[in-house]
Amino acid sequence: MMSPHSPAKPQTDYDAIVVGAGFAGLYMLHKLREIGLSARVFETGSDVGGTWFWNRYPGARCDVYSMEYSYSFDEQLQQEWVWTERYPAQPEILKYIEHVADRFDLRRDIQFDTRVTAAHFDEETGIWLVKTEDGTTVTACYCIMASGALSASRKPDFEGLDDFGGTWYHTGQWPHDPVDFTGQRVAVIGTGSSGIQVTPMVAQQAANLTVFQRTPNFSIPAWNYPLSNAEQENWKRQAAHHRATAKASKSGALYQYSQRSALEVSDEERQGEFDARWSHGGANFTHAFNDLFKNKAANDLAADYVRRKISEIVQNKDIAAKLTPTDHAIGTKRICVDTDYYATFNRANVALVDARATPIQRITKEGIETTDDFYPVDSIVFATGYDAVTGALTRIDIRGRAGKSLKDKWSDGPKTYLGIMVAGFPNLFTLTGPGSPSILTNVVMSIEQHVEWVGNCLIHMAREELQLIEADQQAEDEWVEHVREVANGTLHVHADSWYMGANIPGKPRVMLPYVGGLGVYTRICDEVAAEGYRGFIQSKTA
Ligand code: NAP
Repeated sequence: MMSPHSPAKPQTDYDAIVVGAGFAGLYMLHKLREIGLSARVFETGSDVGGTWFWNRYPGARCDVYSMEYSYSFDEQLQQEWVWTERYPAQPEILKYIEHVADRFDLRRDIQFDTRVTAAHFDEETGIWLVKTEDGTTVTACYCIMASGALSASRKPDFEGLDDFGGTWYHTGQWPHDPVDFTGQRVAVIGTGSSGIQVTPMVAQQAANLTVFQRTPNFSIPAWNYPLSNAEQENWKRQAAHHRATAKASKSGALYQYSQRSALEVSDEERQGEFDARWSHGGANFTHAFNDLFKNKAANDLAADYVRRKISEIVQNKDIAAKLTPTDHAIGTKRICVDTDYYATFNRANVALVDARATPIQRITKEGIETTDDFYPVDSIVFATGYDAVTGALTRIDIRGRAGKSLKDKWSDGPKTYLGIMVAGFPNLFTLTGPGSPSILTNVVMSIEQHVEWVGNCLIHMAREELQLIEADQQAEDEWVEHVREVANGTLHVHADSWYMGANIPGKPRVMLPYVGGLGVYTRICDEVAAEGYRGFIQSKTA
Protein backbone atom coordinates (compact mmCIF):
# COMPACT_ATOMS: atom_id res chain seq x y z
CA MET A 1 0.00 0.00 0.00
CA MET A 2 1.17 3.50 -0.63
CA SER A 3 -0.20 6.90 0.04
CA PRO A 4 -2.55 7.94 -2.71
CA HIS A 5 -1.16 11.45 -2.47
CA SER A 6 2.59 11.24 -2.72
CA PRO A 7 4.18 14.72 -2.74
CA ALA A 8 5.23 14.41 -6.38
CA LYS A 9 1.68 14.16 -7.65
CA PRO A 10 -0.08 17.19 -9.12
CA GLN A 11 -3.78 17.83 -8.55
CA THR A 12 -5.86 15.81 -10.99
CA ASP A 13 -9.39 14.42 -11.16
CA TYR A 14 -8.04 10.88 -10.82
CA ASP A 15 -4.68 9.29 -10.30
CA ALA A 16 -5.27 7.09 -13.32
CA ILE A 17 -7.60 6.86 -16.28
CA VAL A 18 -8.02 3.39 -17.73
CA VAL A 19 -9.43 3.00 -21.24
CA GLY A 20 -11.42 -0.21 -21.62
CA ALA A 21 -13.24 -2.58 -19.28
CA GLY A 22 -12.28 -5.95 -20.69
CA PHE A 23 -9.97 -8.46 -19.03
CA ALA A 24 -7.11 -5.92 -18.93
CA GLY A 25 -9.03 -2.85 -17.76
CA LEU A 26 -10.83 -4.71 -14.99
CA TYR A 27 -7.71 -6.20 -13.46
CA MET A 28 -5.92 -2.86 -13.86
CA LEU A 29 -8.68 -1.12 -11.93
CA HIS A 30 -8.53 -3.73 -9.19
CA LYS A 31 -4.74 -3.36 -9.01
CA LEU A 32 -4.90 0.46 -8.85
CA ARG A 33 -7.31 0.26 -5.95
CA GLU A 34 -5.11 -2.28 -4.23
CA ILE A 35 -2.14 0.09 -4.34
CA GLY A 36 -4.25 3.00 -3.15
CA LEU A 37 -4.73 5.00 -6.33
CA SER A 38 -7.96 6.52 -7.55
CA ALA A 39 -9.08 5.51 -11.02
CA ARG A 40 -11.79 6.00 -13.58
CA VAL A 41 -12.38 3.51 -16.34
CA PHE A 42 -14.01 4.60 -19.59
CA GLU A 43 -15.70 1.92 -21.63
CA THR A 44 -17.46 2.25 -24.99
CA GLY A 45 -19.78 -0.68 -24.32
CA SER A 46 -22.74 -0.58 -21.99
CA ASP A 47 -21.17 -3.17 -19.69
CA VAL A 48 -17.92 -4.96 -18.91
CA GLY A 49 -16.32 -7.61 -21.13
CA GLY A 50 -14.47 -5.90 -23.98
CA THR A 51 -13.97 -8.40 -26.80
CA TRP A 52 -16.39 -10.76 -25.11
CA PHE A 53 -19.02 -8.06 -24.78
CA TRP A 54 -18.98 -7.40 -28.54
CA ASN A 55 -18.31 -10.82 -30.09
CA ARG A 56 -21.73 -12.39 -29.62
CA TYR A 57 -21.86 -14.14 -32.97
CA PRO A 58 -23.12 -17.74 -33.06
CA GLY A 59 -20.23 -20.11 -32.44
CA ALA A 60 -18.04 -17.49 -30.68
CA ARG A 61 -15.78 -19.43 -28.40
CA CYS A 62 -12.26 -19.06 -27.05
CA ASP A 63 -9.66 -21.50 -28.35
CA VAL A 64 -7.67 -21.49 -25.10
CA TYR A 65 -8.92 -23.91 -22.45
CA SER A 66 -11.41 -22.34 -20.06
CA MET A 67 -9.37 -23.32 -16.98
CA GLU A 68 -6.46 -21.36 -18.42
CA TYR A 69 -8.31 -18.47 -20.04
CA SER A 70 -9.20 -16.96 -16.70
CA TYR A 71 -7.57 -14.81 -14.04
CA SER A 72 -5.06 -16.39 -11.70
CA PHE A 73 -4.52 -13.39 -9.42
CA ASP A 74 -7.16 -14.34 -6.88
CA GLU A 75 -7.01 -17.87 -5.53
CA GLN A 76 -10.58 -17.93 -4.25
CA LEU A 77 -11.93 -16.72 -7.59
CA GLN A 78 -9.93 -19.38 -9.38
CA GLN A 79 -11.10 -22.13 -7.06
CA GLU A 80 -14.75 -21.14 -6.93
CA TRP A 81 -15.63 -20.43 -10.52
CA VAL A 82 -16.96 -23.49 -12.34
CA TRP A 83 -16.44 -23.79 -16.10
CA THR A 84 -18.70 -26.12 -18.04
CA GLU A 85 -16.70 -26.89 -21.19
CA ARG A 86 -13.15 -27.53 -22.31
CA TYR A 87 -13.27 -24.37 -24.48
CA PRO A 88 -15.51 -21.64 -23.09
CA ALA A 89 -18.26 -20.17 -25.26
CA GLN A 90 -18.70 -16.40 -25.37
CA PRO A 91 -21.78 -16.24 -23.07
CA GLU A 92 -19.92 -18.15 -20.37
CA ILE A 93 -16.79 -15.98 -20.60
CA LEU A 94 -18.96 -12.88 -20.41
CA LYS A 95 -20.76 -14.30 -17.37
CA TYR A 96 -17.36 -14.92 -15.77
CA ILE A 97 -16.18 -11.36 -16.45
CA GLU A 98 -19.45 -9.98 -15.04
CA HIS A 99 -18.95 -12.14 -11.98
CA VAL A 100 -15.44 -10.70 -11.53
CA ALA A 101 -16.82 -7.17 -11.83
CA ASP A 102 -19.43 -7.96 -9.14
CA ARG A 103 -17.08 -9.81 -6.87
CA PHE A 104 -14.57 -6.96 -6.73
CA ASP A 105 -17.26 -4.26 -6.93
CA LEU A 106 -15.60 -2.80 -10.02
CA ARG A 107 -18.54 -1.16 -11.81
CA ARG A 108 -18.70 1.85 -9.45
CA ASP A 109 -15.48 3.20 -11.00
CA ILE A 110 -16.43 2.44 -14.60
CA GLN A 111 -18.25 4.87 -16.84
CA PHE A 112 -20.01 2.87 -19.57
CA ASP A 113 -21.28 4.04 -22.97
CA THR A 114 -18.32 6.39 -23.07
CA ARG A 115 -15.85 6.43 -25.92
CA VAL A 116 -12.49 8.11 -25.32
CA THR A 117 -11.66 10.29 -28.30
CA ALA A 118 -8.42 11.96 -27.21
CA ALA A 119 -5.69 11.83 -24.60
CA HIS A 120 -3.21 14.70 -24.53
CA PHE A 121 -0.16 15.04 -22.32
CA ASP A 122 0.36 18.52 -20.94
CA GLU A 123 4.10 19.11 -20.72
CA GLU A 124 3.87 22.04 -18.36
CA THR A 125 1.96 20.23 -15.62
CA GLY A 126 2.90 16.67 -16.54
CA ILE A 127 -0.68 15.46 -16.51
CA TRP A 128 -2.94 13.71 -19.02
CA LEU A 129 -6.12 15.31 -20.30
CA VAL A 130 -8.51 12.64 -21.46
CA LYS A 131 -11.47 13.64 -23.59
CA THR A 132 -14.61 11.58 -24.13
CA GLU A 133 -17.12 11.67 -26.98
CA ASP A 134 -19.55 13.90 -25.09
CA GLY A 135 -16.86 16.60 -24.91
CA THR A 136 -15.96 16.11 -21.25
CA THR A 137 -12.27 16.33 -20.31
CA VAL A 138 -10.86 14.72 -17.19
CA THR A 139 -7.31 14.86 -15.86
CA ALA A 140 -5.08 12.16 -14.49
CA CYS A 141 -1.43 11.45 -13.72
CA TYR A 142 -1.46 8.16 -15.57
CA CYS A 143 -3.23 7.12 -18.73
CA ILE A 144 -3.51 3.36 -19.09
CA MET A 145 -4.68 1.94 -22.37
CA ALA A 146 -6.53 -1.33 -21.89
CA SER A 147 -8.27 -0.92 -25.22
CA GLY A 148 -7.59 -4.39 -26.57
CA ALA A 149 -5.58 -5.87 -29.40
CA LEU A 150 -8.56 -7.16 -31.38
CA SER A 151 -11.20 -4.53 -30.72
CA ALA A 152 -11.01 -2.12 -33.66
CA SER A 153 -13.22 -4.09 -36.03
CA ARG A 154 -12.81 -3.69 -39.74
CA LYS A 155 -15.47 -3.77 -42.41
CA PRO A 156 -13.86 -3.41 -45.85
CA ASP A 157 -15.17 -0.48 -47.87
CA PHE A 158 -17.24 -2.51 -50.29
CA GLU A 159 -18.87 -0.29 -52.84
CA GLY A 160 -22.63 -0.21 -52.48
CA LEU A 161 -22.97 -1.52 -48.92
CA ASP A 162 -25.22 1.41 -48.02
CA ASP A 163 -27.63 0.32 -50.75
CA PHE A 164 -27.88 -3.24 -49.46
CA GLY A 165 -31.55 -4.06 -48.86
CA GLY A 166 -30.90 -6.86 -46.38
CA THR A 167 -29.17 -6.82 -43.01
CA TRP A 168 -25.44 -6.99 -42.43
CA TYR A 169 -23.46 -7.86 -39.33
CA HIS A 170 -19.82 -7.78 -38.24
CA THR A 171 -18.77 -10.65 -35.98
CA GLY A 172 -17.00 -8.17 -33.70
CA GLN A 173 -20.10 -5.98 -33.23
CA TRP A 174 -22.83 -8.54 -33.01
CA PRO A 175 -26.32 -7.45 -31.84
CA HIS A 176 -27.38 -8.35 -28.31
CA ASP A 177 -30.58 -10.04 -29.44
CA PRO A 178 -29.98 -13.40 -31.09
CA VAL A 179 -30.09 -13.28 -34.88
CA ASP A 180 -32.27 -15.88 -36.58
CA PHE A 181 -31.13 -16.83 -40.08
CA THR A 182 -33.82 -19.46 -40.56
CA GLY A 183 -34.96 -19.63 -44.15
CA GLN A 184 -32.53 -16.92 -45.28
CA ARG A 185 -29.91 -16.72 -48.01
CA VAL A 186 -26.78 -15.74 -46.09
CA ALA A 187 -23.24 -14.74 -47.08
CA VAL A 188 -20.24 -15.04 -44.77
CA ILE A 189 -17.27 -12.98 -45.92
CA GLY A 190 -13.96 -13.97 -44.35
CA THR A 191 -12.47 -17.26 -43.22
CA GLY A 192 -10.27 -16.40 -40.25
CA SER A 193 -10.99 -17.65 -36.71
CA SER A 194 -14.33 -15.79 -36.59
CA GLY A 195 -15.51 -16.92 -40.03
CA ILE A 196 -14.50 -20.50 -39.30
CA GLN A 197 -16.56 -20.46 -36.10
CA VAL A 198 -19.64 -18.72 -37.44
CA THR A 199 -19.90 -20.69 -40.70
CA PRO A 200 -21.03 -24.08 -39.28
CA MET A 201 -23.57 -22.36 -37.03
CA VAL A 202 -25.14 -20.26 -39.80
CA ALA A 203 -25.18 -23.31 -42.10
CA GLN A 204 -27.45 -25.10 -39.62
CA GLN A 205 -30.06 -22.33 -39.84
CA ALA A 206 -29.87 -20.70 -43.23
CA ALA A 207 -31.75 -21.88 -46.33
CA ASN A 208 -28.44 -21.47 -48.09
CA LEU A 209 -25.07 -20.11 -47.13
CA THR A 210 -22.35 -18.81 -49.43
CA VAL A 211 -18.89 -18.44 -47.90
CA PHE A 212 -16.63 -15.92 -49.61
CA GLN A 213 -13.08 -17.04 -48.99
CA ARG A 214 -10.10 -14.96 -50.06
CA THR A 215 -7.40 -17.00 -48.31
CA PRO A 216 -7.93 -20.56 -47.09
CA ASN A 217 -6.78 -21.11 -43.53
CA PHE A 218 -5.44 -24.02 -41.55
CA SER A 219 -7.84 -25.17 -38.87
CA ILE A 220 -7.51 -27.87 -36.23
CA PRO A 221 -10.58 -29.49 -34.67
CA ALA A 222 -11.42 -28.34 -31.15
CA TRP A 223 -13.02 -31.61 -30.00
CA ASN A 224 -14.77 -29.54 -27.39
CA TYR A 225 -16.42 -31.46 -24.53
CA PRO A 226 -18.22 -30.81 -21.23
CA LEU A 227 -15.72 -30.54 -18.37
CA SER A 228 -16.23 -33.19 -15.75
CA ASN A 229 -16.07 -32.27 -12.08
CA ALA A 230 -13.17 -34.66 -11.65
CA GLU A 231 -11.08 -33.04 -14.41
CA GLN A 232 -11.83 -29.59 -13.10
CA GLU A 233 -11.09 -30.40 -9.47
CA ASN A 234 -7.88 -32.11 -10.43
CA TRP A 235 -6.78 -29.00 -12.33
CA LYS A 236 -7.72 -26.73 -9.45
CA ARG A 237 -5.73 -28.79 -6.98
CA GLN A 238 -2.67 -28.15 -9.11
CA ALA A 239 -3.61 -24.59 -10.09
CA ALA A 240 -0.51 -22.94 -8.62
CA HIS A 241 1.78 -25.30 -10.51
CA HIS A 242 -0.21 -25.01 -13.75
CA ARG A 243 -0.27 -21.23 -13.64
CA ALA A 244 3.46 -20.94 -12.93
CA THR A 245 4.19 -23.33 -15.81
CA ALA A 246 1.93 -21.42 -18.18
CA LYS A 247 3.43 -18.04 -17.27
CA ALA A 248 6.96 -19.33 -17.85
CA SER A 249 6.05 -20.88 -21.19
CA LYS A 250 6.20 -19.46 -24.68
CA SER A 251 2.46 -19.12 -25.23
CA GLY A 252 1.23 -18.62 -21.67
CA ALA A 253 -0.65 -21.89 -22.07
CA LEU A 254 -0.10 -25.50 -21.09
CA TYR A 255 0.69 -26.85 -24.53
CA GLN A 256 3.02 -29.80 -24.85
CA TYR A 257 6.05 -28.00 -26.26
CA SER A 258 8.16 -30.56 -28.08
CA GLN A 259 11.94 -30.41 -27.87
CA ARG A 260 12.39 -32.33 -31.13
CA SER A 261 12.75 -31.18 -34.70
CA ALA A 262 10.21 -32.47 -37.19
CA LEU A 263 13.17 -33.36 -39.39
CA GLU A 264 14.99 -35.57 -36.88
CA VAL A 265 12.31 -38.22 -36.40
CA SER A 266 11.21 -41.10 -38.62
CA ASP A 267 8.16 -40.76 -40.87
CA GLU A 268 6.22 -43.11 -38.56
CA GLU A 269 7.08 -41.14 -35.44
CA ARG A 270 6.15 -37.88 -37.08
CA GLN A 271 2.86 -39.26 -38.33
CA GLY A 272 2.16 -40.64 -34.85
CA GLU A 273 2.87 -37.26 -33.27
CA PHE A 274 0.63 -35.37 -35.70
CA ASP A 275 -2.13 -37.99 -35.29
CA ALA A 276 -1.96 -37.64 -31.52
CA ARG A 277 -2.04 -33.85 -31.70
CA TRP A 278 -4.91 -33.84 -34.22
CA SER A 279 -6.92 -36.20 -31.99
CA HIS A 280 -6.14 -34.06 -28.95
CA GLY A 281 -7.30 -30.95 -30.84
CA GLY A 282 -6.54 -27.25 -30.80
CA ALA A 283 -3.46 -25.08 -31.12
CA ASN A 284 -1.33 -27.68 -29.35
CA PHE A 285 -0.86 -29.06 -32.88
CA THR A 286 1.59 -26.31 -33.81
CA HIS A 287 3.89 -27.29 -30.94
CA ALA A 288 4.27 -30.87 -32.18
CA PHE A 289 7.90 -30.10 -33.04
CA ASN A 290 10.16 -27.27 -31.97
CA ASP A 291 10.96 -25.95 -35.44
CA LEU A 292 7.55 -25.57 -37.06
CA PHE A 293 7.69 -21.78 -36.82
CA LYS A 294 11.33 -21.55 -37.88
CA ASN A 295 12.06 -24.10 -40.56
CA LYS A 296 10.03 -24.19 -43.77
CA ALA A 297 10.82 -27.86 -44.45
CA ALA A 298 9.59 -28.80 -40.96
CA ASN A 299 6.54 -26.60 -41.33
CA ASP A 300 5.69 -28.16 -44.71
CA LEU A 301 5.37 -31.55 -43.03
CA ALA A 302 2.81 -30.24 -40.55
CA ALA A 303 1.01 -28.25 -43.25
CA ASP A 304 0.83 -31.31 -45.54
CA TYR A 305 -0.68 -33.34 -42.72
CA VAL A 306 -3.54 -30.83 -42.32
CA ARG A 307 -3.95 -30.56 -46.10
CA ARG A 308 -4.43 -34.33 -46.26
CA LYS A 309 -7.03 -34.10 -43.48
CA ILE A 310 -8.96 -31.47 -45.44
CA SER A 311 -9.01 -33.72 -48.51
CA GLU A 312 -10.26 -36.61 -46.35
CA ILE A 313 -13.05 -34.57 -44.73
CA VAL A 314 -14.34 -32.61 -47.72
CA GLN A 315 -16.08 -34.90 -50.21
CA ASN A 316 -16.07 -32.68 -53.28
CA LYS A 317 -12.52 -32.61 -54.68
CA ASP A 318 -12.82 -29.11 -56.17
CA ILE A 319 -14.14 -27.64 -52.93
CA ALA A 320 -11.46 -29.47 -50.95
CA ALA A 321 -8.79 -27.99 -53.22
CA LYS A 322 -10.22 -24.49 -52.77
CA LEU A 323 -10.24 -24.91 -48.99
CA THR A 324 -6.61 -26.04 -48.92
CA PRO A 325 -4.13 -23.36 -47.84
CA THR A 326 -1.08 -23.07 -50.04
CA ASP A 327 0.16 -19.50 -49.65
CA HIS A 328 1.47 -19.47 -46.09
CA ALA A 329 3.21 -21.70 -43.58
CA ILE A 330 0.92 -23.30 -41.01
CA GLY A 331 0.64 -21.14 -37.88
CA THR A 332 2.04 -17.99 -39.51
CA LYS A 333 -1.49 -16.75 -39.95
CA ARG A 334 -3.28 -17.36 -36.66
CA ILE A 335 -4.11 -21.07 -36.49
CA CYS A 336 -7.87 -21.61 -36.33
CA VAL A 337 -9.65 -24.06 -34.07
CA ASP A 338 -13.02 -25.26 -35.25
CA THR A 339 -16.03 -27.46 -34.75
CA ASP A 340 -17.09 -29.05 -38.05
CA TYR A 341 -15.76 -26.27 -40.27
CA TYR A 342 -14.46 -28.33 -43.19
CA ALA A 343 -17.32 -30.86 -42.90
CA THR A 344 -19.81 -27.99 -43.25
CA PHE A 345 -18.86 -27.80 -46.93
CA ASN A 346 -20.34 -31.28 -47.41
CA ARG A 347 -23.80 -29.85 -46.74
CA ALA A 348 -26.06 -29.32 -49.71
CA ASN A 349 -27.02 -25.80 -48.57
CA VAL A 350 -23.41 -24.48 -48.38
CA ALA A 351 -21.37 -23.06 -51.27
CA LEU A 352 -17.83 -21.70 -51.39
CA VAL A 353 -16.71 -18.78 -53.54
CA ASP A 354 -13.04 -18.18 -54.20
CA ALA A 355 -12.93 -14.44 -53.56
CA ARG A 356 -9.31 -14.27 -54.67
CA ALA A 357 -9.93 -15.72 -58.13
CA THR A 358 -13.20 -13.80 -58.46
CA PRO A 359 -13.11 -10.90 -55.98
CA ILE A 360 -16.16 -9.14 -54.62
CA GLN A 361 -16.75 -6.11 -56.83
CA ARG A 362 -19.66 -4.49 -55.09
CA ILE A 363 -22.67 -5.02 -52.91
CA THR A 364 -26.03 -4.18 -54.43
CA LYS A 365 -29.53 -3.89 -53.03
CA GLU A 366 -30.07 -7.61 -53.68
CA GLY A 367 -26.74 -9.19 -52.89
CA ILE A 368 -23.08 -9.60 -53.73
CA GLU A 369 -21.50 -9.14 -57.13
CA THR A 370 -18.14 -10.74 -57.88
CA THR A 371 -16.10 -10.40 -61.04
CA ASP A 372 -17.96 -13.34 -62.62
CA ASP A 373 -21.29 -13.86 -60.85
CA PHE A 374 -24.05 -12.43 -58.69
CA TYR A 375 -25.20 -13.93 -55.39
CA PRO A 376 -28.60 -12.78 -54.09
CA VAL A 377 -28.58 -12.72 -50.26
CA ASP A 378 -30.80 -11.59 -47.38
CA SER A 379 -28.01 -11.18 -44.82
CA ILE A 380 -24.26 -10.64 -44.91
CA VAL A 381 -21.93 -11.61 -42.07
CA PHE A 382 -18.62 -9.76 -42.22
CA ALA A 383 -15.98 -11.88 -40.53
CA THR A 384 -13.37 -9.55 -41.90
CA GLY A 385 -11.30 -9.01 -38.78
CA TYR A 386 -9.62 -6.10 -37.06
CA ASP A 387 -7.11 -3.32 -37.33
CA ALA A 388 -5.22 -5.46 -34.87
CA VAL A 389 -2.96 -4.45 -31.98
CA THR A 390 -2.47 -0.80 -32.98
CA GLY A 391 -5.95 0.10 -34.31
CA ALA A 392 -7.64 0.73 -30.97
CA LEU A 393 -4.76 3.05 -30.01
CA THR A 394 -4.38 4.99 -33.23
CA ARG A 395 -8.14 5.58 -33.50
CA ILE A 396 -7.79 7.74 -30.38
CA ASP A 397 -6.03 11.10 -30.77
CA ILE A 398 -3.17 10.36 -28.36
CA ARG A 399 -0.57 13.11 -28.09
CA GLY A 400 2.60 13.15 -26.06
CA ARG A 401 5.38 15.69 -25.67
CA ALA A 402 5.31 18.68 -28.04
CA GLY A 403 1.82 17.65 -29.16
CA LYS A 404 3.25 14.76 -31.20
CA SER A 405 0.62 12.21 -32.07
CA LEU A 406 1.06 8.49 -31.49
CA LYS A 407 -0.42 7.81 -34.91
CA ASP A 408 2.28 9.94 -36.57
CA LYS A 409 5.02 8.42 -34.46
CA TRP A 410 3.86 4.97 -35.55
CA SER A 411 3.30 5.85 -39.21
CA ASP A 412 6.01 3.43 -40.34
CA GLY A 413 5.29 0.83 -37.65
CA PRO A 414 4.68 0.86 -33.89
CA LYS A 415 7.59 1.77 -31.66
CA THR A 416 7.51 0.93 -27.97
CA TYR A 417 9.81 -0.06 -25.17
CA LEU A 418 8.75 -3.53 -23.97
CA GLY A 419 5.40 -3.00 -25.69
CA ILE A 420 4.24 -1.10 -22.65
CA MET A 421 5.59 2.45 -22.89
CA VAL A 422 6.42 4.84 -25.71
CA ALA A 423 9.26 7.40 -25.83
CA GLY A 424 7.78 10.90 -25.78
CA PHE A 425 4.59 9.75 -24.01
CA PRO A 426 5.32 9.90 -20.26
CA ASN A 427 3.02 8.01 -17.87
CA LEU A 428 1.14 6.39 -20.77
CA PHE A 429 0.97 2.61 -20.47
CA THR A 430 -0.20 0.32 -23.28
CA LEU A 431 -1.39 -3.00 -21.85
CA THR A 432 -0.62 -5.85 -24.29
CA GLY A 433 0.68 -3.21 -26.69
CA PRO A 434 2.67 -3.80 -29.89
CA GLY A 435 6.10 -5.23 -29.13
CA SER A 436 4.75 -7.36 -26.26
CA PRO A 437 3.72 -11.03 -26.63
CA SER A 438 -0.01 -10.16 -26.24
CA ILE A 439 -2.14 -11.97 -28.81
CA LEU A 440 0.49 -14.61 -29.56
CA THR A 441 -0.24 -15.95 -26.09
CA ASN A 442 -3.07 -16.90 -23.78
CA VAL A 443 -3.76 -13.20 -23.48
CA VAL A 444 -5.15 -13.34 -19.94
CA MET A 445 -1.70 -14.41 -18.71
CA SER A 446 -0.07 -11.61 -20.71
CA ILE A 447 -2.57 -9.15 -19.28
CA GLU A 448 -1.82 -10.24 -15.71
CA GLN A 449 1.91 -9.85 -16.33
CA HIS A 450 1.45 -6.32 -17.74
CA VAL A 451 -0.95 -5.17 -15.04
CA GLU A 452 1.33 -6.45 -12.29
CA TRP A 453 4.38 -4.85 -13.90
CA VAL A 454 2.57 -1.49 -14.18
CA GLY A 455 1.30 -1.81 -10.60
CA ASN A 456 4.85 -2.37 -9.33
CA CYS A 457 6.11 0.50 -11.44
CA LEU A 458 3.54 2.85 -9.90
CA ILE A 459 4.50 1.70 -6.40
CA HIS A 460 8.13 2.39 -7.30
CA MET A 461 7.19 5.88 -8.48
CA ALA A 462 5.37 6.67 -5.25
CA ARG A 463 8.25 5.39 -3.15
CA GLU A 464 10.77 7.43 -5.11
CA GLU A 465 8.40 10.41 -5.22
CA LEU A 466 8.55 10.48 -9.00
CA GLN A 467 6.06 12.35 -11.10
CA LEU A 468 6.99 10.97 -14.50
CA ILE A 469 8.33 7.82 -16.06
CA GLU A 470 9.04 7.58 -19.75
CA ALA A 471 10.75 5.20 -22.16
CA ASP A 472 14.21 6.37 -23.14
CA GLN A 473 14.56 6.79 -26.92
CA GLN A 474 17.61 4.55 -27.14
CA ALA A 475 15.97 1.80 -25.06
CA GLU A 476 12.95 2.00 -27.33
CA ASP A 477 15.07 1.81 -30.50
CA GLU A 478 16.89 -1.23 -29.14
CA TRP A 479 13.65 -2.96 -28.18
CA VAL A 480 12.08 -2.30 -31.60
CA GLU A 481 15.20 -3.75 -33.20
CA HIS A 482 15.10 -6.79 -30.89
CA VAL A 483 11.41 -7.42 -31.68
CA ARG A 484 12.23 -7.19 -35.40
CA GLU A 485 15.24 -9.46 -35.14
CA VAL A 486 13.40 -12.19 -33.24
CA ALA A 487 10.51 -12.04 -35.72
CA ASN A 488 12.93 -12.30 -38.65
CA GLY A 489 14.14 -15.60 -37.25
CA THR A 490 10.66 -17.06 -37.77
CA LEU A 491 8.42 -17.86 -40.73
CA HIS A 492 5.84 -15.35 -39.46
CA VAL A 493 7.34 -12.49 -41.43
CA HIS A 494 6.62 -14.19 -44.76
CA ALA A 495 2.85 -14.42 -44.30
CA ASP A 496 0.28 -11.78 -45.22
CA SER A 497 -1.33 -11.91 -41.79
CA TRP A 498 -2.88 -9.39 -39.45
CA TYR A 499 0.11 -10.11 -37.18
CA MET A 500 2.10 -8.35 -39.94
CA GLY A 501 -0.47 -5.62 -40.49
CA ALA A 502 -1.07 -7.07 -43.97
CA ASN A 503 -4.89 -7.09 -43.68
CA ILE A 504 -5.17 -3.30 -43.59
CA PRO A 505 -4.38 -1.46 -46.82
CA GLY A 506 -1.45 0.90 -46.23
CA LYS A 507 -0.58 -0.45 -42.76
CA PRO A 508 3.21 -0.81 -42.39
CA ARG A 509 4.45 -4.38 -42.72
CA VAL A 510 5.79 -5.05 -39.22
CA MET A 511 5.39 -8.08 -36.95
CA LEU A 512 3.20 -6.48 -34.29
CA PRO A 513 3.60 -8.82 -31.31
CA TYR A 514 6.88 -9.94 -29.74
CA VAL A 515 7.60 -13.52 -30.82
CA GLY A 516 10.16 -14.23 -28.09
CA GLY A 517 7.53 -15.85 -25.84
CA LEU A 518 5.86 -14.83 -22.59
CA GLY A 519 8.35 -16.55 -20.28
CA VAL A 520 11.39 -14.88 -21.86
CA TYR A 521 9.60 -11.55 -22.07
CA THR A 522 8.56 -11.66 -18.41
CA ARG A 523 12.16 -12.28 -17.37
CA ILE A 524 13.31 -9.27 -19.40
CA CYS A 525 10.61 -7.03 -17.87
CA ASP A 526 11.52 -8.23 -14.36
CA GLU A 527 15.22 -7.56 -14.95
CA VAL A 528 14.45 -4.07 -16.23
CA ALA A 529 12.46 -3.34 -13.05
CA ALA A 530 15.07 -4.91 -10.77
CA GLU A 531 17.70 -2.66 -12.31
CA GLY A 532 15.77 0.43 -11.24
CA TYR A 533 13.67 0.54 -14.42
CA ARG A 534 16.58 0.42 -16.82
CA GLY A 535 15.86 2.30 -20.02
CA PHE A 536 13.25 4.57 -18.44
CA ILE A 537 13.70 8.27 -17.76
CA GLN A 538 12.33 9.03 -14.31
CA SER A 539 11.70 12.54 -13.05
CA LYS A 540 10.43 14.18 -9.88
CA THR A 541 8.79 17.08 -11.69
CA ALA A 542 7.28 17.80 -15.08
P1 NAP B 1 -9.04 -12.36 -39.52
O1 NAP B 1 -8.29 -13.50 -39.01
O2 NAP B 1 -8.30 -11.11 -39.87
O3 NAP B 1 -9.86 -12.86 -40.79
C1 NAP B 1 -10.50 -11.95 -41.63
C2 NAP B 1 -10.95 -12.68 -42.86
O4 NAP B 1 -11.63 -11.77 -43.71
C3 NAP B 1 -9.80 -13.25 -43.68
O5 NAP B 1 -10.18 -14.49 -44.19
C4 NAP B 1 -9.65 -12.22 -44.78
O6 NAP B 1 -9.02 -12.70 -45.94
C5 NAP B 1 -11.09 -11.87 -45.02
N1 NAP B 1 -11.26 -10.62 -45.73
C6 NAP B 1 -10.88 -9.39 -45.33
N2 NAP B 1 -11.19 -8.49 -46.28
C7 NAP B 1 -11.78 -9.17 -47.29
C8 NAP B 1 -12.30 -8.80 -48.55
N3 NAP B 1 -12.28 -7.53 -48.97
N4 NAP B 1 -12.82 -9.78 -49.35
C9 NAP B 1 -12.83 -11.05 -48.94
N5 NAP B 1 -12.35 -11.46 -47.75
C10 NAP B 1 -11.83 -10.52 -46.95
O7 NAP B 1 -10.20 -11.91 -38.50
P2 NAP B 1 -11.01 -12.81 -37.44
O8 NAP B 1 -11.44 -14.06 -38.05
O9 NAP B 1 -12.03 -11.93 -36.83
O10 NAP B 1 -9.93 -13.17 -36.36
C11 NAP B 1 -9.06 -12.19 -35.82
C12 NAP B 1 -8.37 -12.77 -34.63
O11 NAP B 1 -9.26 -12.74 -33.51
C13 NAP B 1 -7.99 -14.23 -34.74
O12 NAP B 1 -6.86 -14.45 -35.52
C14 NAP B 1 -7.83 -14.60 -33.30
O13 NAP B 1 -6.63 -14.14 -32.77
C15 NAP B 1 -8.98 -13.84 -32.66
N6 NAP B 1 -10.16 -14.72 -32.61
C16 NAP B 1 -10.07 -15.82 -31.82
C17 NAP B 1 -11.10 -16.69 -31.76
C18 NAP B 1 -10.95 -17.89 -30.90
O14 NAP B 1 -10.38 -17.85 -29.85
N7 NAP B 1 -11.42 -19.00 -31.34
C19 NAP B 1 -12.27 -16.47 -32.50
C20 NAP B 1 -12.34 -15.33 -33.29
C21 NAP B 1 -11.27 -14.45 -33.34
P3 NAP B 1 -7.42 -12.64 -46.09
O15 NAP B 1 -6.89 -13.71 -45.19
O16 NAP B 1 -7.19 -12.87 -47.52
O17 NAP B 1 -7.00 -11.26 -45.64
